[in-house]
Amino acid sequence: MSVPPSHEPASPGPGLPSEAASEAELTAAAEPDGFERLWTPHRMAYIKGEGKPTGPGAHEGCPFCIAPTLSDEDGLIVARGELVYAIMNLYPYNSGHVLICPYRHLADYTELTTAETAEFSDYTTRAITALRIVSGPHGFNIGMNLGTVAGAGIAAHLHQHVVPRWGGDTNFMPVTGRTRVLPQLLADTRKLLADAWPASL
Ligand SMILES: [Zn+2]
Repeated sequence: MSVPPSHEPASPGPGLPSEAASEAELTAAAEPDGFERLWTPHRMAYIKGEGKPTGPGAHEGCPFCIAPTLSDEDGLIVARGELVYAIMNLYPYNSGHVLICPYRHLADYTELTTAETAEFSDYTTRAITALRIVSGPHGFNIGMNLGTVAGAGIAAHLHQHVVPRWGGDTNFMPVTGRTRVLPQLLADTRKLLADAWPASL
């Protein structure tokens, strides 16, 4: 099958830039302007206010009650235990920032049963082990903020932070720019940690 030769130069439709102009625009767009780009698509949920509870109750949009009802991928769940689970923090302080939560909607550490306390501790240990396998951190910050005044973002549902640290992982960005630089997307980190999660202690 042959196509008849065209004697007309390629002409874009009305309203479209000419071929020459669009080529020039593309060249201009490809030229660096001296600014680094920081792509943080996961921040969109924060900007749009998604996942914020409307109150302290379990049925008022508590993200730690909702997450376990989703798939691991959608809920960013790393591992599910009998009484507690591990989840990626949607607002990480550092890459690999994991939270350990009881399934039960409770605010205070002292409300955990003995069995919950044991698995809470067990899951903290497994999170450290998985993070060491995946990304070899030099240290960890581990702990809980009980109550809003203590800094808990979601005070109504207890959670333990496990934050991996590397030498030199802090810089001027959080201080001057209120911006944390995170080199890995949450979904990717979740998968790595889920695969490395120890089946038992
Ligand atoms: Zn909850």
